[in-house]
Amino acid sequence: MHSSPLARTLERMTKALRMSTLFLRTLREDPADADVDSAKLLQRAGYIRKAAPGIWTWLPLGLSVLNKIEEIIREEINGIGAQEVHFPALLPREPYEATHRWEEYGDNIFRLKDRHEADYLLAPTHEEMFTLLVKDMYSSYKDLPVTLYQIQTKYRDEFRPRAGLIRGREFIMKDAYSFTIDEEGMRKAYMDERGAYERIFQRLDLKYVPVFAMSGPMGGSASEEFLAPMAIGEDTFALAPSGKAWNVEALNTPKPEDIDFSATPAASKRETNDAITIDNMVTFANANYPREDGRDWQASDILKNVVIAVKHAEDDEHDEPWRELIVVGVPGDRNVDMKRLEAQFAPSELEEATEDDLKAHPELVRGYIGPMAVGPQARKTNDEALRYFIDAHVARGSAWFTGADEFEQDYYDLVYGRDFEADGVVEAVEVRSGDMSPDGSGPLSFERGVEIGQVFQLGLKYSEALGLKVLNQNGKTVPVWMGCYGIGVSRVLACIAETHHDDKGLAWPMNIAPAQVHVLATGKDEVAFDAAEKLVDELSANGIEVIYDDRKKVSPGVKFKDAELIGVPIVAVVGRDTVNNGTIEVRDRDGSNSEAVSVDSVAQVITDRVNTALK
Ligand code: ATP
Ligand code: MG
Repeated sequence: MHSSPLARTLERMTKALRMSTLFLRTLREDPADADVDSAKLLQRAGYIRKAAPGIWTWLPLGLSVLNKIEEIIREEINGIGAQEVHFPALLPREPYEATHRWEEYGDNIFRLKDRHEADYLLAPTHEEMFTLLVKDMYSSYKDLPVTLYQIQTKYRDEFRPRAGLIRGREFIMKDAYSFTIDEEGMRKAYMDERGAYERIFQRLDLKYVPVFAMSGPMGGSASEEFLAPMAIGEDTFALAPSGKAWNVEALNTPKPEDIDFSATPAASKRETNDAITIDNMVTFANANYPREDGRDWQASDILKNVVIAVKHAEDDEHDEPWRELIVVGVPGDRNVDMKRLEAQFAPSELEEATEDDLKAHPELVRGYIGPMAVGPQARKTNDEALRYFIDAHVARGSAWFTGADEFEQDYYDLVYGRDFEADGVVEAVEVRSGDMSPDGSGPLSFERGVEIGQVFQLGLKYSEALGLKVLNQNGKTVPVWMGCYGIGVSRVLACIAETHHDDKGLAWPMNIAPAQVHVLATGKDEVAFDAAEKLVDELSANGIEVIYDDRKKVSPGVKFKDAELIGVPIVAVVGRDTVNNGTIEVRDRDGSNSEAVSVDSVAQVITDRVNTALK
């Protein structure tokens, strides 16, 4: 008799995995080079195998979990109306040339040549290809909005592959791209995608924090990174008591209140010898110019002025990339954070000014640089004066001890907003734990996490670079607004392993475990194997996925250890003695429960439990 195709499919889907034939070899020892728990356990439990640094082979158990994670992602992303496509990983150079990413990616890209010497790359991400595909097929506002996605292998020649699947050189990404006629459409697509992310990570039982990834003021569009908080993470984020979180580059300092300077004495210029460093300035001032208010001078009284070079791209007035020196005033008790500062000038890059830069500007007197020789103050008499920026911590009306632009001369009581001005306020210094959070909800704390996904409002960057334009309602040709949205699928799997295990092994959530039940037949007695076989058949008939440890010459101890390592959520132990007493032991892998269930009802009890957990 032949069963129907559907029945055959169901049978295949729920066919128990038998340990006697499963392609699996568990390891008792941690692999020597595994640096984090997920990398150790996924290898020891036979989910993955190393092929090369940062390049992994998926074994049957690993592939099963990966497929389930992908299915959850598909359901949610299809649920917001996105459509799945699949691009090649091997791509021609030209589109990446057009967006400058062929160079910008630097050494992180795998580049190769075909037999005709044409350049190709293994895609690190696919913005260019999606943009060109839509350009190829669509031409009108009537075609939009559309969101496309793929789940696909990506390649990045990471400098330091680490943490197993968490930073691989070949990895699996879900990448989605939205195309809309206007900015409002882009924002809606972004919010839809973001909502799907929240549902995906909740369903995967993976803790996540959406972290604001970009600062508003100096351009750049909205972006959030979804981080899974964990100590092994490479990303630091600042967390407010409100639960909101930011990348340090995206943190905005709350505006300090203006200070009333009506009683502040006029600024005075005083000799301050050998005062190149902040410490020396404090020591010298305390010895020679005690403060009126009785307290000591301290580093936070000093306005430190740092010379920075901004490397601009060519623009309307410059045919070539050009270099601008700027001076940034920061409180003396804080260090400049170049990454935070650079984010304010993106896409231009920053570097510290060189010896030659300073030589070219005699108004910058090393150790005695002050705000009077630059910025709006100096521009009153010198059109060419360098731009001066002030750190966001500096309150208007505050009085400063700072350089007077002459050797061994400093200003005292130089007031911001009275004696000098700035060309702009910037986030220039490091943030510290305890700083007030941008939303005013209390002091910031710092946590570490792994980036599991990112949502990004791209705006017009790619559509302009690649000429993706459509006709709008008025028959005018306009560029398309885009968003891009990534999830690191293989990284997510590792993060779940990282947060769902104990010292004995993995402990998967029910909905992505390679099976829901692990049945162990212990001992040598046929009674146990017969009862186990029957249980496996009944569970399979109920649509439950089972790993069945049917190995004959393997000790119960080894079977228990393997079950703990593999991490299936429900473990049923079938031994001669209990079966003769009419029971089978049912345990939860997480140790929360263990009970003897009657042989007659055990299949139903387990089935109900699985179905409840999967609801
Ligand atoms: P990271 O800062 O960790 O290098 P990224 O910001 O460069 O990541 P994106 O370009 O935003 O990464 O890629 C989308 C997602 O792909 C990331 O959120 C992350 O989950 C995943 N991902 C990125 N690089 C890797 C990698 N080397 N191995 C595994 N997953 C990765
Ligand atoms: Mg990212």
